[in-house]
Amino acid sequence: MNRPSLLSLDDALPQLLAQAHTLPETQWVSTFDADGRVLAQDVVAGLQVPPHDNSSMDGYALRALDCVQAGAVLRVTQRIPAGTHGTQLNSGEAARIFTGAPIPPGADAVVMQEDCEVLEGGQIKVNMAVPTAQWIRRSGEDVTRGATVLSRGTRLTPAELGLAASIGLAQLQVSVRPRVALFSTGDELVMPGDVAPEAMPAGAIYNSNRFFLRAMLKRLGCEVSDLGIVPDKREATIAVLRDAAMHHDLILTSGGVSVGEEDHIKPAVQSLGELSLWQLSIKPGKPFAYGKVNREGGVCHFMGLPGNPVSSFVTFLLLVRPFLLAMQGLTQTEVKRTQMTAHFDWPRADKRREFLRVKRNAAGGLDVFPNQSSGVLTSAVWGDGVVDNPAGQTIARGDSVRFISFEEWLA
Ligand code: AMP
Ligand code: MG
Repeated sequence: MNRPSLLSLDDALPQLLAQAHTLPETQWVSTFDADGRVLAQDVVAGLQVPPHDNSSMDGYALRALDCVQAGAVLRVTQRIPAGTHGTQLNSGEAARIFTGAPIPPGADAVVMQEDCEVLEGGQIKVNMAVPTAQWIRRSGEDVTRGATVLSRGTRLTPAELGLAASIGLAQLQVSVRPRVALFSTGDELVMPGDVAPEAMPAGAIYNSNRFFLRAMLKRLGCEVSDLGIVPDKREATIAVLRDAAMHHDLILTSGGVSVGEEDHIKPAVQSLGELSLWQLSIKPGKPFAYGKVNREGGVCHFMGLPGNPVSSFVTFLLLVRPFLLAMQGLTQTEVKRTQMTAHFDWPRADKRREFLRVKRNAAGGLDVFPNQSSGVLTSAVWGDGVVDNPAGQTIARGDSVRFISFEEWLA
């Protein structure tokens, strides 16, 4: 019997994102706390930045026409530190001025103090010909009043927080955090700290997925309810899913989503709602599942990640990450791929699209981690990204490949 072919990532992702409706609620947060959040409104400047023409140097404000040639002598008639403002400046006069201070009316250039000589009797000699507008920062050269400086759907980073503050915003309106319930399945799982390594029973392993999944959810701005480890039992799985669906936007699980008799996630979700995606043509990460769990008056999204740690890690980044960003109103959810040169051979093509853990080397190319098994988490620690290798494709040293950097992907 022919197995039906697996769904490709390119087919699955748009289907998934079509379900990721932006959460309707928004909230105001302090600009201090808005790093990583997604803006829910356009931000329009209510003033010019800088608010006035000002000096970009410590020196003297003057009239350029007085200094057409080097050697002009001017009388210093006023002093303008930052935070104050000056008065009318007339021909033959200079104003002592400091960085950020407003240019006084009548002045049209600044000369650096290094280009002047201080003379007796409150005078200076200007040792250069001064062009008009020298060392003046124009009002509005950063931001003009009425301009949209940040757009709705932008994920805020420290630079945006600074810009928002520069136009006087102490609070920003952002999308609410998605509420995500997280649990692991697997009777073999033990929590670090509960059992010492030397006392681990036969067949037990530590729960590693829980740690990176929780961290990745937090980085994406989610409010995480960590429900711990759920036993490999149908009824227990159903009970936790039903309960979690009531108060969350997404239930995220790891393990138990393959085809063995101990894999209860799939039937449990189907008994409470529907599973609309299952199994993708990617490696690692084939058993990924997406569905919905019904609750009174609505549904809760469900995503089941494979148990193997690298599969869990990669499917989170490929599928869960864009989904959660879209739920927060982000318009651009795709991670950037850059072309880089493989410094390795990958002679065996796989039927599935592969995500190979690689590392940039000093020669500007990529090395591959020798063990690409989906259980080997060391590959993700050693590597600084993945090569996104199309299905059926071999790689020869020197080939150009598509690289995704963990730095960007995990941000
Ligand atoms: P499963 O998808 O439940 O069949 O699990 C596949 C493999 O991943 C098995 O070797 C599990 O022991 C392992 N695994 C499942 N969950 C975790 C976890 N939370 N942390 C580490 N390994 C896991
Ligand atoms: Mg299992």
